[in-house]
Amino acid sequence: MSAQKKETTENTEAQQSFSADVSRLLDIVAHALYTNHDVFLRELISNAADACDRLRYDAIAAPDLIKDNPDFRICTYKDTTNRTISIVDNGVGMNKDELAENLGTIAKSGTASLMEKMEKINDGADKLKLIGQFGVGFYAGYMIAHKIQVVSRKAGSDETWLWESDGKSGFIIREPSAIEKARLDGARGTAITLSVKDEASEFLLDQKIEMTVKEYSDHISVPIYLGAPGEVTKDKDAEAINSASALWMKSKQDITPDEYEDFYKHLAGGADESLMTSHWKAEGTIEFTGLLYVPTLRPWDLFDPSRRNFVKLYVRRVFITDELENLMYPWLRFMRGVIDSEDLPLNISRESLQYNPTIEKIRSAVARKVLGDLDKLSRDDLSAFTSFWGQFGPALKEGLYDAVEHRPALLKVCRFYSTHNNATALTSLSDYVERMKDGQDKIYYLSGESLENIKNSPQLEGFKSRGIEVLFFTDTIDDFWLQSVLDYKDIPFQSITKGDIDLGKYEEASSPEKDEADAETTDKEKQDASGHISLLITAMQDILVDSVHNVRISQRLTDSPVCLVAPDGGVDMYMERVLRLHQKYEGDNKPVLEINPKHALIKKLAQSCEKGADITDAAFLLLDQAKIIQGEPIDDPSAFTRRVSDFMKKAI
Ligand code: ADP
Ligand code: MG
Repeated sequence: MSAQKKETTENTEAQQSFSADVSRLLDIVAHALYTNHDVFLRELISNAADACDRLRYDAIAAPDLIKDNPDFRICTYKDTTNRTISIVDNGVGMNKDELAENLGTIAKSGTASLMEKMEKINDGADKLKLIGQFGVGFYAGYMIAHKIQVVSRKAGSDETWLWESDGKSGFIIREPSAIEKARLDGARGTAITLSVKDEASEFLLDQKIEMTVKEYSDHISVPIYLGAPGEVTKDKDAEAINSASALWMKSKQDITPDEYEDFYKHLAGGADESLMTSHWKAEGTIEFTGLLYVPTLRPWDLFDPSRRNFVKLYVRRVFITDELENLMYPWLRFMRGVIDSEDLPLNISRESLQYNPTIEKIRSAVARKVLGDLDKLSRDDLSAFTSFWGQFGPALKEGLYDAVEHRPALLKVCRFYSTHNNATALTSLSDYVERMKDGQDKIYYLSGESLENIKNSPQLEGFKSRGIEVLFFTDTIDDFWLQSVLDYKDIPFQSITKGDIDLGKYEEASSPEKDEADAETTDKEKQDASGHISLLITAMQDILVDSVHNVRISQRLTDSPVCLVAPDGGVDMYMERVLRLHQKYEGDNKPVLEINPKHALIKKLAQSCEKGADITDAAFLLLDQAKIIQGEPIDDPSAFTRRVSDFMKKAI
């Protein structure tokens, strides 16, 4: 046993277990999900830079914390004899409790549910996507290391602790030996030492480390040196291997697409790429620089109520916080990036930022810029925009009722499927308005659970035959914003399943067969038919009195015999169901049953009604049929089956 090993054993504290989440995460990491192992260095350097940023902020209020050495830096070096690579920072450091807490558990909310999801997925590539969005952070080290030691001393404390783990059986925290303590850069910060696996020996080459740092961490604003802290201090010519300037302060022309993308990866810790980048300097009443990204993939917790935004707030290049909720509107919570203010005081407390008027102005200016850029994207790159809309449209639409000020800009970027193109392409509201028929004064829509469910609804028939476009609203959120957004450019939205819609004023696209059929019917026959129909309507109303508001002739139908709609002034039928589900609606809205007088079945029924036949079963069957096609449950399934069987018996 070597001297060092003996010392270790003597100081060993009881082994502590990882939280269940961490064990599962480590298991996934060990099975090498990242095809690209280099990213561990990005993660560790990213943590080191965060630690420096945090101490820089703390030192504004307590300058003593950095009086021993006000310059922040990160050193990284290999040791070929011991087969280790180390990353050392002189940032904020961790005390004993923080070591256990930060490296032994995953404190982030929602992680457990992420893990659950992950376990259900068998496809490695899909898992990679999920974990990529989440970022495995510190644990990425176990892709290339069979053991990791973390020596850390919290700034302002005189205790140093060592955390150690093989990434499998748990971890221990003990007092470090003098040699281990000497890994730190001065009197504060953290030194992470990874014992490199045989298959990852490439990381024991300076060139590999340097290349990897340049590739992923060039934009990190803390200088990164190649060499142990002692060597770097001695070497008067030592130069940082990264450019160590805040990327967002450079002008656009001086930033390459790769640099933008690396910075996105640093911020998002993710495997996806950015879909849109907005980089601008706001000047005027408020001054700030923004560098914001729209991700390609929806974060797994986008609709988790505890999801917050991850945009980082800087004040004149000093990192302040990435936990400021009101820095972004909730409906832009998927964005990543940096906002660097010129106006806020540096020594502002994080708490007082929550209600700061400057922050509110920034939030609004950011929303305007992002919505403008999205609008531009929709014109310049349709496929990127379509992908954006698929991932984030439902979140963005929350803004329609959340932020009245931005409503026009939001409506401009909103897209919907519609009967135009038979629900295969998205349309904007302005395109819809352009295609409106002469005399059309409403924007018609149909809401439902999914496109499949509603695109063949009978209620659409009369609109389709007249060439009147109907929008499809299939996100739950649609039924909420429609309650506060009543029109687009003063043209009201109108549900086609609600109220009596006068389609008579629009001409039906003529179909040769229909014209012929009409020509053959004499006026006498027409009169007879309408007489039968009113009889039928009265009869059906009597039979269905408990289930429907009333029965009437439909203008919506061309091919189907019946459909249900909400009465005038009532709540749209699908919306009623959604509201009921969210316990926001308790009314009892009986629907209107509309019948199609031109349909053969209805004609026949009207005739038998005239002859005094009992149409009770037929009336109930028609009602149930209308419910089924609309995806509504039927009231009495056993009565329904009995009636169907009876009719079948007669027919066979
Ligand atoms: P994240 O960086 O997303 O929070 P990580 O897994 O990368 O997640 O790190 C977990 C936590 O461990 C960090 O939030 C931080 O509190 C702590 N930590 C990691 N590395 C360092 C370091 N070099 N200095 C100080 N704290 C660190
Ligand atoms: Mg991290």
